[in-house]
Amino acid sequence: MPEIKRIEFTKEMKHTHTILVPMMLPIHFCFLEHILVQEGYRIEVLHNDDQRIIEEGLRHVHNDTCYPALLVIGQMMEALKSGRYDIDHVALAITQTGGGCRASNYIHLLRKALIQAGFSQVPVISVNFSHLEKNSGFHLTPKLLVKLAAGFLYGDVLMWLGNQLKPYEIEQGTCDRLTKAWIQTLCDQMDSLRFTHIRKNVTQIVQAYGAVPRSSQTKIKVGIVGEIYMKYAPLGNRRLEEFLIKEGCEPVVSGVLDFALYCLENAKIDYEYYDRNKKAAKLAAWASAYLQTLQQSIADIIKADGTFRAPAPFHEIIKDREGIIDRGVKMGEGWLLSSEMVELIHSGVNNIVCCQPFGCLPNHIVAKGMMRKLKDRYPASNIVALDFDPSATSVNQENRLKLMLANARLYEHFGEETAKELTNA
Ligand code: SF4
Repeated sequence: MPEIKRIEFTKEMKHTHTILVPMMLPIHFCFLEHILVQEGYRIEVLHNDDQRIIEEGLRHVHNDTCYPALLVIGQMMEALKSGRYDIDHVALAITQTGGGCRASNYIHLLRKALIQAGFSQVPVISVNFSHLEKNSGFHLTPKLLVKLAAGFLYGDVLMWLGNQLKPYEIEQGTCDRLTKAWIQTLCDQMDSLRFTHIRKNVTQIVQAYGAVPRSSQTKIKVGIVGEIYMKYAPLGNRRLEEFLIKEGCEPVVSGVLDFALYCLENAKIDYEYYDRNKKAAKLAAWASAYLQTLQQSIADIIKADGTFRAPAPFHEIIKDREGIIDRGVKMGEGWLLSSEMVELIHSGVNNIVCCQPFGCLPNHIVAKGMMRKLKDRYPASNIVALDFDPSATSVNQENRLKLMLANARLYEHFGEETAKELTNA
């Protein structure tokens, strides 16, 4: 195996290379793509999502590795091998969290895969906030970060409202069309300051979603939590939201802003617990306060309109983990994952699917490891852990989900005590 050398993404490459980005959040990444194009990058978010991705992943990544790594690397390798790109003018982008788990090391696995496949000239850009790798042709400037934060906030709002509208729409496809139209409207605004008028835009979005005719049917609400990629990426969780809607349920998925706030909170915890970087902790506290103010104002707009449920503020999510898990548990999704499950239960969503990728030790501890505790504290909770790996069959997963939904229906129709007797009979 030849030595793994890092190819820098240079200033010149910004004009000559197309950067391929693996898909994670379908709505949010539309904004990401537009914002980066506006900043002068040539960007393409990958939409390939068939079985060949798993095969490519298995070809280049050891099957003991975290499943999200296998999928992300598989998606990029499949794209490169497809013949759709000029290999001498293409680059790849991947995140490095800088945390303690393996997410920071996917980049090295990707470079190894590129060498194996004969694509050693392809530069890989690390997207990180941890002073890890730098590239002269790619910079996360303050202006870019502000735009990305706004784009991801809009993404959260559209995802949150869409999940409350789509299962109830009278004319099928209305919600998807409305979401598409708002993505376009917001992308058109990106050139002007209007894009940053978040409150004004969110008020109009809430009104537009509220005006869509909906059925008044009661549907079972099902929360989705898990490792971040498995929770959001349709490729990772096999289109779980769509499956739940088809089964007559309403999926409840918290926004990615909570994960960003969790990362900022961890910088504060690092300082409090381990006396690490005071300056980083201060900066994180400032950024967190700013984002939480925005989050609160969005929740206030949704509450004032009264048509849809508003998301829980982050300071409540932090409190939810008390007595369940310590703040020091911050590998993977850490204390956030347990807190999200508690928050769902507190908001009346007792049915929860927890997406567990193969090879992910931290999330097995903070998710599966917490289920007994949650069940003892909240007997009506109905949580199912769904394991994802290259050989997991969709039939098996769908059966587990249907069993969970059958229990949810029993609870709903007969109440907790009778349902328990029936399921134990
Ligand atoms: S959170 Fe789990 S799946 Fe994600 S990188 Fe860490 S160990 Fe792997």
